[in-house]
Amino acid sequence: MSKMQLDIVTPERKVYSKDVEMVITRAANGDIGILPHHAPLVSPLSVTVVRVKNEGNEERIAISGGFLEVRPSGVTILAETAELSTDIDVERAEAAVERAQGRIAEHEGDLARAELALKRAVNRLEVAKWK
Ligand code: ATP
Repeated sequence: MSKMQLDIVTPERKVYSKDVEMVITRAANGDIGILPHHAPLVSPLSVTVVRVKNEGNEERIAISGGFLEVRPSGVTILAETAELSTDIDVERAEAAVERAQGRIAEHEGDLARAELALKRAVNRLEVAKWK
C-alpha cells in the first residue's frame, strides 16, 4: 500500500513522525479517513482520537484540540496535547476524571472548564485501552 508522512506536533514536542497508510479521526464535519493523495484540507480538531493504520497494525493517539492539515506532502496534526496510548498514565487520567466530576457535582468553579477536563481525561482512558 502507498504511504504518506504523518506528523503530530504539540507546542512541547514532536509526538509522532512516520510514513503511514491511513489516518482516521473526527474533523469538524465528522469522521474522516485519510489515505495518500487525499484532497488538501484544514480542519479544527476537538478532544478526540487519531487512529493510525500501518502494515496491519493500528496505533491510537489521544488529542486534546488543535488542527489537522492535509497536504500533498502528508498530514500534520498540530495539537494542544497528544499522547500515544502507551504513554498515557491511567491513574493520572482516572484522578482527573474524579476531580472534574467532583467540580461539576459541587458546581465549583468554571463548569465549562471542568467539562473539558473531564472530556480530556475520558478520551485518554479510552485511548489507553488500546495497547
Ligand atoms: P491533569 O489534570 O492530570 O494535569 P489535564 O487534562 O489538565 O490533566 P493537560 O493540560 O491536557 O492535562 O496536559 C498537560 C500535559 O500533561 C501535556 O503534556 C499532556 O500530554 C500531559 N498529560 C496529561 N494527562 C496525562 C496522562 N494521563 N498521561 C500522560 N500524559 C498526560
